[in-house]
Amino acid sequence: MTAQVIDGKAIAAALRARLAAEVALLPFRPRLVVILVGDDPASSVYVRNKRKAAAEVGFADGTERLAADTSEATLLARIAALNADPEVDGILVQLPLPAHIRAEAVTAAIDPAKDVDGFHPLNAGHLAIGRPTLVPCTPKGVMTLLAAAGVPLAGARAVVLGRSTIVGRPMAALLTLADATVTLAHSRTRDLAAECRRADILVAAVGRPGMVRGDWVAPGAAVIDVGINRTADRTLVGDVAYAEAAPHAGWITPVPGGVGPMTIATLLENTVAAATARRRT
Ligand code: NDP
Repeated sequence: MTAQVIDGKAIAAALRARLAAEVALLPFRPRLVVILVGDDPASSVYVRNKRKAAAEVGFADGTERLAADTSEATLLARIAALNADPEVDGILVQLPLPAHIRAEAVTAAIDPAKDVDGFHPLNAGHLAIGRPTLVPCTPKGVMTLLAAAGVPLAGARAVVLGRSTIVGRPMAALLTLADATVTLAHSRTRDLAAECRRADILVAAVGRPGMVRGDWVAPGAAVIDVGINRTADRTLVGDVAYAEAAPHAGWITPVPGGVGPMTIATLLENTVAAATARRRT
């Protein structure tokens, strides 16, 4: 069997083109404010990429850099001001934050209507009860990839590896909403390989290079690799041993070029949705 490689770069580019066309028709330019506290190199790259993608689809610029020693109170006050600013459509605080700032306090301070990361407890709760509002970008992007590739979801057995609030849990909720039968696996799961072998759809989001081996993949399964891991020689690899898994899979995402590009495109999609919903009311 030769797996169909799901081209996240092309699917993300198509989504960005659709968003640019939508934005061009709006009577305003959506503004996404991305706040970076400190100068973590990886976060700086992510923020630069978000800014570039936002500009490409026609958003107004909104990147803010705060010093690494910014207090939690100062950051919360800045978020309160952005919440109150009618010209601001989306607010994203880049994680991880310096140790003296509580990420939960920051997440909960963002107006849920501008929470384009979908991490606010209210938005997480809406997803958990099956009425999604703003949904975390990475799992929502995975759903877009599955739809674009034509992977059947209703009635499929899905296994999600990893239960983080950013990826695994919302991924399981979205697949459940799409009528898949979902197993959410984690570090305490017994016989992970056997669980994976039962999957028609296998989503790996653990952060362990090459953990999913070829013989964990059922023939014809859709294998979605969310993992982004840097090896000692600085190469990017996923959580799936790609060369081993691809001959068994029906569909597979590469790393890089699979899920990664979808995350930023989906952030833009969430911002357009937040902007149009809020400015309409
Ligand atoms: P977290 O570290 O928050 O969560 C990892 C999850 O994997 C946990 O639930 C953990 O289980 C589980 N896990 C860890 N080790 C094992 C193991 N040996 N067996 C089974 N389960 C295990 O990671 P994230 O969810 O934030 O990210 C996961 C990966 O996805 C990372 O590589 C990250 O870089 C990548 N990522 C990619 C994005 C993209 O845009 N493509 C966006 C976000 C993340 P437990 O809960 O029991 O500890």
